[in-house]
Amino acid sequence: MKKLILAVVLGGVLHGAMAADQGLLEAARTQQAPLLATLKELVLIESGSSDTAGVARVADVSARRLTALGAAVERKDGIVTGRFTGKGSKRLMLIAHMDTVYQPGILATQQYHVDGNRVYGPGIADDKSGIALILHTIEMLHARGWRDYAQLTVIFNPDEEVGSRASGEWIATQAAQHDFVFSCEPNGAQMEGILLSASGIATATMTVQGRAAHAGVAPKVGRNALIELSHQLLQTQDINVPGAQLNWTRANAGLVTNQIPASATAQGDVRLSAADGAQRLQQALSEKVAKPLVADTVTTVAIEQGRPPFIATDAARAWAARAQAIYGEIDRKLALYPGTGGGTDAGYASRSGKAIVLEAFGLAGDGVHGKDEYITIDSIVPRLYLLSRMMQEAGASR
Ligand SMILES: [Zn+2]
Repeated sequence: MKKLILAVVLGGVLHGAMAADQGLLEAARTQQAPLLATLKELVLIESGSSDTAGVARVADVSARRLTALGAAVERKDGIVTGRFTGKGSKRLMLIAHMDTVYQPGILATQQYHVDGNRVYGPGIADDKSGIALILHTIEMLHARGWRDYAQLTVIFNPDEEVGSRASGEWIATQAAQHDFVFSCEPNGAQMEGILLSASGIATATMTVQGRAAHAGVAPKVGRNALIELSHQLLQTQDINVPGAQLNWTRANAGLVTNQIPASATAQGDVRLSAADGAQRLQQALSEKVAKPLVADTVTTVAIEQGRPPFIATDAARAWAARAQAIYGEIDRKLALYPGTGGGTDAGYASRSGKAIVLEAFGLAGDGVHGKDEYITIDSIVPRLYLLSRMMQEAGASR
């Protein structure tokens, strides 16, 4: 009998599936109803990115909850930052955003409601599920006496859906002082996974300087910036740079019809899939535009970088595999998603390359940025378990 049991246990170990932490799993089950209550409170506050008052009310609730959990809370530029001091050695950071894509009044047509396993509401998945999950994961772990971190930092930002222009630098500089960042954007309802990359965004501006002249009397004296711009757009439209994709989308030249235009500008949309994509594109464009078609004109190109691309490092990929193993403990599967066209603040968090950054720890759901956004109730316990186990392992890592 004893031998048989030993064989069964070994069999389990050999197949790689570790046993679940039953105490933690039970704590997660206890946390489900309170998390749903938090989620409801957050969804009932409309917080479209441009609705400053609404986003501030979400910040009030979030800051109050972090303070109640024992964090020192700092509020700056609409960003809520909570810091917990622990007894361990690692510095952990959790991020989620408070704003949504919806216009004021959205709750009149898209009400909060529960239908079976689904809870509907604007922003419920993206990203109020991330905020609720973070608050209740910390509550659960602290209640169990876990404080295996030197510092645990939580950042809730107000402008993710409009490019994190005010909060991106803060996220990047804070992340650079941490060992791990787990970003809590929502996960998919069909197949949950860890996201390994997301595009960065930039804007390219081409400026041509020519010389004005009377278009009828002395056109040859002028240096036509519009003609030069056209030439430069044509010869750069198919520029091929690994890690950067450019499409010219706007242009402007000339003030009046009887003057040879002295200047012309064009702007383009840039998507980045490599950390140095913007630099390489800048260099390639500068080389291309150096030789003018219209003599004596000067063309310059500038690239303004927005949200950086997110590319999971080898270390982060190893931690994604750990996440898969943790999900295996509770008999669930976790996919590894190679990439998405949408941006994420994991890009800012990973900019310095110092922290191990992983994305998409939020609840499972669907319909984000759409009409019937929802989360699934049966994803709450697994997501609480996954994030808390990841934090435990990160805290205990060397
Ligand atoms: Zn989001």
